[in-house]
This record gives sequence, structure tokens and C-alpha cells, in this order.
Amino acid sequence: MSTAAETPGLAVDIAGLHKSFGPVEVLRGIDMQVKRGEVVCIIGPSGSGKSTLLRCVNLLEEPTAGSVVVNEVELTDPDVDIDAARTKIGMVFQSFNLFSHLNVLNNITVAQIKVLKRGKAEAERTALANLERVGLTGRGTAMPSELSGGQQQRVAIARALSMNPDVMLFDEPTSALDPELVGDVLAVMRRLADEGMTMLVVTHEMQFAREVADRVLFMDGGVIVEEGLSEEVIGDPQEERTRAFLSRVL
Ligand code: ADP
Ligand code: MG
Repeated sequence: MSTAAETPGLAVDIAGLHKSFGPVEVLRGIDMQVKRGEVVCIIGPSGSGKSTLLRCVNLLEEPTAGSVVVNEVELTDPDVDIDAARTKIGMVFQSFNLFSHLNVLNNITVAQIKVLKRGKAEAERTALANLERVGLTGRGTAMPSELSGGQQQRVAIARALSMNPDVMLFDEPTSALDPELVGDVLAVMRRLADEGMTMLVVTHEMQFAREVADRVLFMDGGVIVEEGLSEEVIGDPQEERTRAFLSRVL
């Protein structure tokens, strides 16, 4: 078997991934590849290991076994500079995790300045460009508490984009939002996908998965039960467990 690090053109290459918390094995052998520019949605019931898988992609969780390679850097190599590698992986969480005491602009510039060592002017230029990208031009001086949940999530997306990531990870980015605010966030994600961003998205938004994802993975019990083109997995699932899940959420 060729190792993941030798396969060019892949943004994410995961092989034989296991993750246990104490005696509980949460990921039980995941193999997953994402090509550059591909949008992959991960669906599945609560507790199936979706967040843990996403967190293993940037090593927020350390795998118990297996390899994780992102843009040809093996993150599971003990000698790798994980902090440097992580700057190339953007992550957006269900809870937006903005700094409540910083205004929008400073939320977006702080990691650019501290981690990427950008000057303030460049960081602000990048922040303003990405605020425009998420439809929030002119909101730089607002405090997070003055924004709707959907706007806060779009700030979180702008913040992640400002690090110039190679890959964007989204963990149920719209699950905490009031229904009327979901569309704006999904529209931003759809635009990113159209621009060619490599995206790995855990979501319960089946319409989004169907329309935007190139591929869909269905997870249950710590394994990928079924995967394929979004139209196939959502429109014509082959596995009983996928069908049962979809009948509950569609
Ligand atoms: P999903 O995102 O699909 O809902 P998770 O990856 O969050 O699933 O969780 C999968 C399982 O792993 C759950 O049973 C959860 O309780 C367990 N789990 C997740 N994180 C931890 C942790 N840090 N310590 C112990 N158990 C955890
Ligand atoms: Mg989760």
C-alpha cells in the first residue's frame, strides 16, 4: 500500500484512523481522501464520531492509530511542526467562538498578527477583504454581541479564511442558528465551494449536502458506512443504516 504522503493532488488523506477515549473506541478504522478543491459533506447520527473525525484532521484530537496527511504533510508524524501545519487548516465550529471582548476586525486580525506574524496593516487589509467575502462589509467595529448568530458565524468564517487555509473544516456551522439565519451562512459556504475551496463539512443540512457537496460520507458507529456522489448517497442510499438515518432527517 502506498503511503498517503506519496499521493499528490490530495488535500486530505486519512488511513487506518482509530481514536479511543479511554476504553471507548469512537473511530474504528477510517480511510478517507479529499481531493484539492473538493467539497465533502459528512452526515450521520449524533455520537457517530463526526466531530472527532474532523478534530483528528487538524490533530485537535490525537489519533490512537493511523495516519493523517494534509497537503502532503503528515500531521501524525511526531517530528512535524503541528502549529505551522495547523495554520493551513481553517476550522469553523457550531459555537462561533469569537472573542467577546474584541471587535470584529480585531477578532479577525489577532491570529494573523500573533501566529502568522503579519503587520497590523496587512492583517487589517486581509480582514476587510474577507469581511466583504462573507457579506459583512462595514461591520469591522461592531462587537460580537451586537451581531446576529448568523453574522457572528460569518465573522468566524472570515477569521478562518484570513489565515489563507488550504482546507476548511466546518463542524455543524449552522446548527446553533435560528432557522432564518441559516441561509446566509450556507450561501457564504456555497460561494467558497464555487471558488474552489477544499471543504470538509459536517452538516445536517441535506439540501446543502445534496447541492454543494461533490461527495457525501455517511458515518455511524465510528465507521464510514457509505460514501459516494452526493446525489447517490442522499438520493439513492444503498445501506439500510443510511436509509434509516435519511428517513429521520429529510
Ligand atoms: P458526533 O459529532 O457524530 O455527534 P462525536 O465525535 O462528538 O460524535 O462523539 C462520538 C463519541 O465520542 C460520543 O459517544 C462522545 O460521547 C464521545 N466523545 C467525544 N469526545 C470525547 C472526549 N473528549 N472524551 C470522551 N468521550 C468523547
Ligand atoms: Mg458533532
